[in-house]
Amino acid sequence: MKTVLSVASEVSPLVKTGGLADVTGALPGAMRAEGWRLVTLLPGYPSVMKALKSSRVVRTERACFGGRARVLAGRAAGLELLVLDAPHLFDRAGAIYLGPDGKDWPDNAERFAALSWVAARLAAAGVEDVKPRVLHAHDWQGALAPVYLKAMKGGAGIGTLLTIHNIAFHGLAPASKLAALKLPEAGFTPDGFEYWGKISALKGGLVASDCISTVSPTYARELMTPEFGMGLDGVLRQRVGDLTGILNGIDEELWNPAADPEIAPYKSPAGKAKNRRALLHEFGLADGPGPLCVVISRLTEQKGLDLLLNALDVLAARSGRLALLGSGDAGLEAAWRDAAARLPGVAVRIGYDEALAHRMIGGADAILLPSRFEPCGLTQLYGLRYGTVPVVADTGGLADTVIDANAAALAMGVATGVKFSPVALDPLRFALSRLCNLHGDRKTFTTLQRNAMKQPVGWAASAPQYAALYDRIGGRA
Ligand code: ADP
Repeated sequence: MKTVLSVASEVSPLVKTGGLADVTGALPGAMRAEGWRLVTLLPGYPSVMKALKSSRVVRTERACFGGRARVLAGRAAGLELLVLDAPHLFDRAGAIYLGPDGKDWPDNAERFAALSWVAARLAAAGVEDVKPRVLHAHDWQGALAPVYLKAMKGGAGIGTLLTIHNIAFHGLAPASKLAALKLPEAGFTPDGFEYWGKISALKGGLVASDCISTVSPTYARELMTPEFGMGLDGVLRQRVGDLTGILNGIDEELWNPAADPEIAPYKSPAGKAKNRRALLHEFGLADGPGPLCVVISRLTEQKGLDLLLNALDVLAARSGRLALLGSGDAGLEAAWRDAAARLPGVAVRIGYDEALAHRMIGGADAILLPSRFEPCGLTQLYGLRYGTVPVVADTGGLADTVIDANAAALAMGVATGVKFSPVALDPLRFALSRLCNLHGDRKTFTTLQRNAMKQPVGWAASAPQYAALYDRIGGRA
């Protein structure tokens, strides 16, 4: 079978901070049916080492960015894995990118350069029966892999793909780290991995990869603009012919309202009523005639939840309810706690809780994503599958996956949610008002829910697109 070596810093369900992990965890299964075998290289964090069963050492690196490292091959959670066991880099308690002070680990550049360098070594040399035609790197943490591979013996015949899940993180390092990161000085130019006097792992990958993909067609287009490109729009414009947007799918077994162990399963919108009552109860919210909305999100500037704080009165005026689950920025956590203390229709759980996320999607009428940018977004896809109407900013993957309930779409019977733009307070307030109007009209709202539940949100459409890309860059025998 044609093989891809995928390299990523998170892979669900072993280690996850966001949507990146969902995709790297789901893609191997989705691609098998397309005739591609994906083997994933990831760091040996404590959680990964624990999950790895009956592994064997397939490679040893004596000098791996400050210490000795081994590559273990094994399986976990149904995935074929190669694990970089480098205790000096990855055997640390707590969050994977952040130290106990809540700041990035000071050696993050070395940690993920090591991951990328080992990926390139494995791709170039092959390991056991893993002789990849394609090296598929994800985000800045894997982005140097194509850079290293290009310079390695045996690297030339292997196709390279870099997928951008979020361009906000560049993996910057001072130029003084060039040697420590095993990077060739010749590449430290504006045409290479230099970015305003620093090393940029992401830029290096964007320049060196045969192809670049991102997780929705609209985000691909947006990335080429100064507003969304975060300083790399020029690089992406230069590579327009090699840039593709492929939507993420969701795990349709894990997220299936008809067989979700966290909820009373249902196949039609009417089945949500019981889950709605349970959710109101769980959050200590009184029922009301308005929509029960949920937010499940990292609390960061990106997600636009500061705007939502100032739009809650629109929901309150229509007896709407809001339950939020999230964690992140300390200021936003405090502001949301404060809103919940002040407003009887608002309840908040600060934390990360996947089981609760299922109960929220199962019980809610609507899910809100007022993101300033959203490469793909997954929770609106969960919402669609569960008949939980998405109210979304018209950006990135949200633009590509939700059909606004405008008059034409309603008349055609294809509307699935509410969209607003630009991402600003007044358009968001109006979107919430529209949601309340739609929700007040039972027949229309049920139609929206039914349309949403029918929309394909799995990998069936996207897997062949990845296969086409793999074939394009590494299809040679
Ligand atoms: P991002 O990668 O920007 O965080 P995505 O929508 O692509 O956004 O993916 C977020 C993923 O993380 C989803 O699977 C979502 O359900 C999950 N998630 C985010 N915050 C929480 C939380 N507090 N509790 C449980 N799951 C969460």
